[in-house]
Amino acid sequence: MLTFLGTGGAFNTERGNTSAYFELGTELFIIDAGEDVFAKLVKKNLFQGKTRVNIFVTHLHSDHAGSLGTLIAYLFIKVFNLDRSKVCVYFPSEAITEFLALQGIKQDMYTFFINRWDELYVDGYEKQPEYVFEPTRHTDELNRNNETNCYGIEFSLKSDFGFFYSGDTCEFNQKLMNTYAFDYIYHEVTSTEGATVHFQYNELLALTKDMPADQKKKITLMHLDSDFDIEKAKADGFSIAGEES
Ligand SMILES: [Zn+2]
Ligand SMILES: [Zn+2]
Repeated sequence: MLTFLGTGGAFNTERGNTSAYFELGTELFIIDAGEDVFAKLVKKNLFQGKTRVNIFVTHLHSDHAGSLGTLIAYLFIKVFNLDRSKVCVYFPSEAITEFLALQGIKQDMYTFFINRWDELYVDGYEKQPEYVFEPTRHTDELNRNNETNCYGIEFSLKSDFGFFYSGDTCEFNQKLMNTYAFDYIYHEVTSTEGATVHFQYNELLALTKDMPADQKKKITLMHLDSDFDIEKAKADGFSIAGEES
């Protein structure tokens, strides 16, 4: 369902920044825009023929938002002829507008959707997708006004498909234990035992030990460190982002 532009953790330059996209109707949807993402989007020529580009951001760490400013400027100036209604940014906190403003990306260059949930009207697509940002624990340094500023995203197209994208987090959302509610679950993971900002692989194994194989396979691992044992994770029954069959 999602096509990944990169599947690595912050320091994994081989796999690149974890980021993914999908297309609906004539619109492009991108989740996260880390440092190396802008170049990949341009190289793949993904903006060709699109009537709108929607960028969903999970949090403001550089491996998730490092090329966001350049991406917005490029879309506004080069792709959509200064029409900010075609460049849409989704994040549940004003923090992102401050982050962008310091880079010279003012709100007259994009349309900002701060809603925690909303319906989308997509060009060339007859249904209304829905999304919800789920606050999640990652690192306290990103919190703002005592509020967590990291999110997972649940996206649903009712009868067509639905997925959950964890963002970076040290917890497994309880909703995900009911795997039947999702077609795809994309989750970050780390093999570092005792890690406090990312979700430990051993915890995931324990949580899913009684899960039927077909459900477990829906859990697609992403944000992988260079020392993550991919072959073991596959043997354990999980899918790997970018390698889904
Ligand atoms: Zn990250
Ligand atoms: Zn992070």
